[in-house]
Amino acid sequence: MRIFFISIILLGTSALAQVIPQPSHAEFGKGFYCGKTTSILLDDNAIDAISKATYSPDDEAYILDVTDSGIKITAESPIGRLRATQTLAQLTDAKGNVRHCHIKDHPAYAWRGAMIDVSRNFFTIDFLKKQIDVLARYKINRLHLHLTDAAGWRIEILRYPRLTKLGAFRTFNSWKTWWNGRPEYGGSSDPLRRKYVPAGSEGACGGYYTQKELRDLVLYAARRGITIIPEIEMPAHSEEVLTAYPELSCTHEPYKQADFCPGNVASYDFLEHVLEEVISIFPSHYIHIGGDEAAKASWRTCPLCAKKMQELGISDVDKLQSHFIAHFGRFLNKHGRQLIGWDEIIDSNLTPNTNIMVWRNADIATNAVNCGYNVILSPGSHCYFDTYQDAPPSQPEAGGGFTTLEKVYSFIPGEKLSQNERKKHITGIQGNLWTEYVPTPDIAEYMLYPRMLAIAEIGWNGTETKNYPDFRQRALKEVVLLRSMGVNCFDLSSEVGDRAESRSEVKHLARGCRVSYAPEAPYYKKAYSAAGDVTLTDGKRGGWNNNDGRWQGFISGREMRFDVTIDLGSSKAFSSVSTDFMQMCGPEIFYPEDYIVSISNDGSHFTELGRMHRDSMKTLNTEVTTFCVKKKARARFIRVQATPSAFSGWLFADEIVVK
Ligand SMILES: [Zn+2]
Repeated sequence: MRIFFISIILLGTSALAQVIPQPSHAEFGKGFYCGKTTSILLDDNAIDAISKATYSPDDEAYILDVTDSGIKITAESPIGRLRATQTLAQLTDAKGNVRHCHIKDHPAYAWRGAMIDVSRNFFTIDFLKKQIDVLARYKINRLHLHLTDAAGWRIEILRYPRLTKLGAFRTFNSWKTWWNGRPEYGGSSDPLRRKYVPAGSEGACGGYYTQKELRDLVLYAARRGITIIPEIEMPAHSEEVLTAYPELSCTHEPYKQADFCPGNVASYDFLEHVLEEVISIFPSHYIHIGGDEAAKASWRTCPLCAKKMQELGISDVDKLQSHFIAHFGRFLNKHGRQLIGWDEIIDSNLTPNTNIMVWRNADIATNAVNCGYNVILSPGSHCYFDTYQDAPPSQPEAGGGFTTLEKVYSFIPGEKLSQNERKKHITGIQGNLWTEYVPTPDIAEYMLYPRMLAIAEIGWNGTETKNYPDFRQRALKEVVLLRSMGVNCFDLSSEVGDRAESRSEVKHLARGCRVSYAPEAPYYKKAYSAAGDVTLTDGKRGGWNNNDGRWQGFISGREMRFDVTIDLGSSKAFSSVSTDFMQMCGPEIFYPEDYIVSISNDGSHFTELGRMHRDSMKTLNTEVTTFCVKKKARARFIRVQATPSAFSGWLFADEIVVK
């Protein structure tokens, strides 16, 4: 082991008992070291290894001793030394003193990532540098940039200038207005554009990074221990490319297609040329090629795709996607790089140990490992930060979902894998900030922090010594510090938490009673079945997450979207029948328009008891409203019906409360 004696940089931090991420072994003394300060520079070899991501978790190991006589860092590699200084920065108080300690530390996972979607909304290089500074504090070591998507192409490609000239700008600042209206591109007087809106003027929005800026960013990040991972989406999420270069889609029409034509050799040539420039900018061993959510609809009717499938001896378009992805896997390997993609690429016959970024669920991680792949875990259930982190009525608009700091922290990577599989195949974890509903840098920071701190903690420390109350105490201190540093972090101390009604069970007359779903009206959808047929009378109310196993979701049925009958077992007196419905407009969950309660004693002839009407209206945040009919009655059977909103969409209900 090499030993480094150093002094430290003053970062103006407040005194902290412990750091985030928690070291694997740490002992703290009562005293403080008060020393001189100087800066710490990484040597060029370390910068090279970091920018390429060609080092192992062992290289990040270090021993840190702080005593009256000084600070001693012991590490095999300069990267370990850098990690030690990142710990030191957190241990330094406002006066520049460092608490006495003996820390022996190494990370649990090689990949501890943050993803920022810079396509749906563009964020400046200065913003990214600021995030790198913050993320480095917590030993995050990958910054994955989602550089291309329908909402904007963000990387200068010299060979194809229309990607940025046209595809980096859109006609509305608000992604929602733009996407839900008639999406148009343009920042120049391009003939494709029907009306010209100069970039930066009111209403228009966009931007891109030059190659020079990105090279500088790579270096900036590497000096702080972070590798930039570029993502170029293919074959789907490419509306902006296929409007700038419509000849690359199956139908050759601008504004019509999201998927490249995998039957056309020009698509392969184009993407290879793009990737060659990407490789020349980003030294990272890993290049992300997306691979998610291809609709493939145009492939089914395209003569070139049909010809390609015939040549390959395949009959379905899923295999055509596999061929397409595998092609770029080989292309990257030929250039000494390794492909990463979202979990849809599992079926693409890629080389073993390819990293699959799992975003859907744990079963997919298991499936990927069974196929011999490695996994980076970033499931939507725990690692998506475009979701609400606190009670939605108090929060900025989000895409939906409800992911508190505690929920992120509760994530166990590879829970369904054996110990051996976990060790061998889990490369790491990542927090993802998609930005459809994140229009400003302030909101981006608000959504990222402190949730990224939980990713840092799990990524470095693993999950064996989890202790949320302890982590929360440390996070609360970091939140104060980050806010004082000008980071618009969510104020954890004001956290309200999950919906109050969901915290205790509700007692009522219908609890435990049998519920039948009218055959002519649709059943709940399997994906949102919650606890099945007992859900609506199990006494359990839903929280702020429509997918928390308590909300039941209904989508079909034009006239009556929700139609259930409760059998109380015998005729009983009651005075109110109420049901909570959720509204979350992002994923098209709306309140019903009419709520109708009918009663019967024979279970077949019903009389309407009363109804409640609510005009359909969209709201920004997730809300829950109680629909109620209050009227004294006596009956054995209670039928509850609800009509869809004017926007159609889903209905979500958690419990029918009879009192
Ligand atoms: Zn085609």
